[in-house]
Amino acid sequence: MIKRDFDDAAKETFDLIVVGSGIIGAGIAWDAALRGLKTLILEKVDFACGTTSRSSRLIHGGLRYLKRLELGLVRQDLRERDVLLSIAPHLVHPLSFIIPLTSGRPLQRVALPFGLMLYDLLYFRKSLPSHQQLTRRETLDFEPGVEPKGLLGSYLYHDCQVPFAERLCLENVLSAAEHGATILNHAKVTEFLRDGNSVSGVVVQDQISGETYQMRARIVVNATGHWVDSVRDMLGKGSRPMVRRTKGIHLLTPQISRNAVVLFAFADSRLFFVIPWQNYSLIGTTDTDYAGDLDAVEAEANDVTYLLKEVQRIFPNVSSGDIFYTYAGLRALAYSKSRRPEDVSRSHKLVDHEREDGIGGFVSVLGGKITAYRAVAEQTVDMVCHKLSAKPPCTTAEVPLPGAPIVPQQSLEQAANERGLTLDTVSHLASLYGSRFSQVLDILNKNPKGAQHLCPHCQDILAQVQHAVEQEGALTIEDFLLRRSAIGLSPCQGLDALNSVASEMGRLLGWSDAEQQHQVDAYRSQAALGQRFRNAGLA
Ligand SMILES: Cc1cc2nc3c(=O)[nH]c(=O)nc-3n(C[C@H](O)[C@H](O)[C@H](O)COP(=O)(O)OP(=O)(O)OC[C@H]3O[C@@H](n4cnc5c(N)ncnc54)[C@H](O)[C@@H]3O)c2cc1C
Repeated sequence: MIKRDFDDAAKETFDLIVVGSGIIGAGIAWDAALRGLKTLILEKVDFACGTTSRSSRLIHGGLRYLKRLELGLVRQDLRERDVLLSIAPHLVHPLSFIIPLTSGRPLQRVALPFGLMLYDLLYFRKSLPSHQQLTRRETLDFEPGVEPKGLLGSYLYHDCQVPFAERLCLENVLSAAEHGATILNHAKVTEFLRDGNSVSGVVVQDQISGETYQMRARIVVNATGHWVDSVRDMLGKGSRPMVRRTKGIHLLTPQISRNAVVLFAFADSRLFFVIPWQNYSLIGTTDTDYAGDLDAVEAEANDVTYLLKEVQRIFPNVSSGDIFYTYAGLRALAYSKSRRPEDVSRSHKLVDHEREDGIGGFVSVLGGKITAYRAVAEQTVDMVCHKLSAKPPCTTAEVPLPGAPIVPQQSLEQAANERGLTLDTVSHLASLYGSRFSQVLDILNKNPKGAQHLCPHCQDILAQVQHAVEQEGALTIEDFLLRRSAIGLSPCQGLDALNSVASEMGRLLGWSDAEQQHQVDAYRSQAALGQRFRNAGLA
């Protein structure tokens, strides 16, 4: 349960303050709390609201990194993929990938078998099957939507998907809280507190009340993703950028493939995906340098045109009219200026500012995929423990996240019968909350109205709003629609459920009519970002 209390937190001296609660900050806080460190998370908006909610939602070794021979990175990520399958089986699932082989790409036909063999060998203890080659006929049976003209066959390999990366992030936060961490979302760090040459804490503004507080800690970790430079610059040490920001976009369309399909763009040979997600397809991504507004990243018409043109070579029936919405996110890659964005390493980097700029008690984390977040967190907390002269071991590779394990089908059927809900609804709840779906259903004991659906075309129910507000720290409509449930990710972007969610949250949080309207307007503006590409007109 997340209990938001700024006054209490301001009375403490923490071992560790983690600034930023994307997957990296959440993972660090979880690890630190499990090791017994007195930990505080400060998140300026909401858990996973940054790049963590804008990814391709894959848990993968990263076939494309083999091109740059980043073998250590791929091995680490393949190992972490297996760890996630074991600690979060309710959120991370195996996914098959097809790489169509087409005529006119001889280099690919030579490089791919070598790359896939390496992918299999790099982590030979893996729990997923090795790759195999499919004939043209087998490919079309397996993936009937693929353009048959010029198709020679394909390769089939396996990685994983985390359909709700937002909830993976949240479960780290929830477990951190259960192990004693203090959690404050909508809490923006605006300044650092200094004690000579060391950081001794931060000034934080509650974004809901507007009040300002001082929070103290022995170590502060800057895990703010693509904001990492602007947070470091609050110390007045902003000479060199630590990260290079590159933008990646995705399109949501009706489902065009059964499996994930790996494509190589004709324009620049970049690898991108068509990924089955829920009953739709996610198409992405791009990789372009970015220098715009860090808080409002959007897909532009040229990004969309690039992806559409490339995907139409293999799926000729997709058109711009099929796009429900787009979303965009920023990578924070450890700084490198000399190469093209796609050539910059995806390895994370820890910056100990004591060594780098002579500022004690301050560490920044650069980069780090969702796939490897646990390993990145482990290394970061090892560094923190070293600074604190503490030696508690990391246990996150063995400790299941709160919603594990997977709920057996029989239990779902029983719950559906007992509660008078459909199996689809209960299964949907289990796909979000794992074994904790029963906590949502328990709300129906006191409030049978909680069984009502939030809109005619989603399986989500009213009780989820109460659960999100009372247990999971949801404070805005956006928190609920985009990061506690997945309603905001559906084709209507949650607009069909907006009014019912607004009035239930208003009731639970005591909003005035004006505040409720403000919340609705804010959500509409957020959703509009995903439609802006249409204004410029597609090529
Ligand atoms: C297009 C795209 C596709 C990707 N696909 C994949 C994929 O399929 N698989 C994969 O493993 N990885 C993928 N990645 C990479 C992955 O998404 C990111 O590396 C990861 O989510 C970064 O997490 P983070 O916690 O570092 O940053 P973020 O998620 O951005 O979190 C940073 C947090 O810091 C907070 N913050 C900022 N400033 C302050 C402040 N002053 N005070 C308090 N809080 C603050 C923000 O609000 C934010 O919540 C993808 C990335 C992109 C861009």
